[in-house]
Amino acid sequence: MNPLESELDYPFGDTLPATGAALEVAPGIRWIRMGLPFALNHINLWLLDDGDGWAVVDCGISNDATRAAWEQVFAEALDGRPITRVIVTHCHPDHVGLADWLCERWQVPLWITVGEYGFARMMSAGLPGADGPATIPHFRRHGLRDREKLAQLEGRKAYYPTLVPSVPAQFIRLDPRIPLQVGAHRWCIMIGTGHSPEHAALYCESLNVLISGDMLLPKISTNTSVFAIEPEADAVGQFLESVAQFLSLPAQTLALPSHGKPFRGVHQRVRQLQDHHAARLDEVRAACDSPRSAADIVPLMFKRDLDMHQLTFAMGEALAHLHRLWFAGELRRTHDYDGVIRFVRLT
Ligand SMILES: [Zn+2]
Repeated sequence: MNPLESELDYPFGDTLPATGAALEVAPGIRWIRMGLPFALNHINLWLLDDGDGWAVVDCGISNDATRAAWEQVFAEALDGRPITRVIVTHCHPDHVGLADWLCERWQVPLWITVGEYGFARMMSAGLPGADGPATIPHFRRHGLRDREKLAQLEGRKAYYPTLVPSVPAQFIRLDPRIPLQVGAHRWCIMIGTGHSPEHAALYCESLNVLISGDMLLPKISTNTSVFAIEPEADAVGQFLESVAQFLSLPAQTLALPSHGKPFRGVHQRVRQLQDHHAARLDEVRAACDSPRSAADIVPLMFKRDLDMHQLTFAMGEALAHLHRLWFAGELRRTHDYDGVIRFVRLT
């Protein structure tokens, strides 16, 4: 456990639900854990008692192992009751991957924000700009010129559609103005940006539980990237503004994150993330005493070898930190003769 993690309280210690099993973490809330074939090797999903059955929160990626784990959950962890609806926090593959399969299997609707629904549909369809190839000119513009890495990116064309082959053709909107009634409890929708277009975290006052999705994770900092489709985004600024809203929740709120273990210490975790990004911004600001591209910043921020999956996120993160300082008026942006965008400190 790193020193920052030890500032948080893990009420279930090291207990984890086994694959295909569920662990009760609050009255009527069960925790399920599914494997992922990435460096981040698992995702947490939640079952909410919905009166005559269970509402599912998030789905896992589309592959045989995850479908088999779900079948085991259906057989052993639902007390013989059905799935009533599928709620998805955001469009990333580990969250929305099997939504279509679950909705079809149980003939139930998908609940998701309109922003996340639109992006999931675009990326699953591989539409131009939202597809893998759009990343290549975007990263080239930001200084990635390594031929081997660019060739590897070329090979990731169908990354999203492979993990999310389909998305339901209809949805019901999660709306921050309208609380969501699930069984005996009301949940407020808390919108977050900077990680994905319109991420929904869910907070229940009567249970004092926050389903934080990817917006608040206990161990790793949430990815905040600038991607090809929105090349002038201020992802870090949006993320920091979004997580500040969790400071208004009671200090003892139980947070149920998508990765890692349930924890208490929401305020502490928000402050840790604020400090983390402030330190990152200091590094980037210091590096920009001469003009730097996002590719120049990556090795300063990430001092280990990165595989292609990690490099994609690292480029996006480096650019997001440059953009935060650019939007704050601390950096100037230049389009250089070699076609590369660089940033340099104004003072
Ligand atoms: Zn995510």
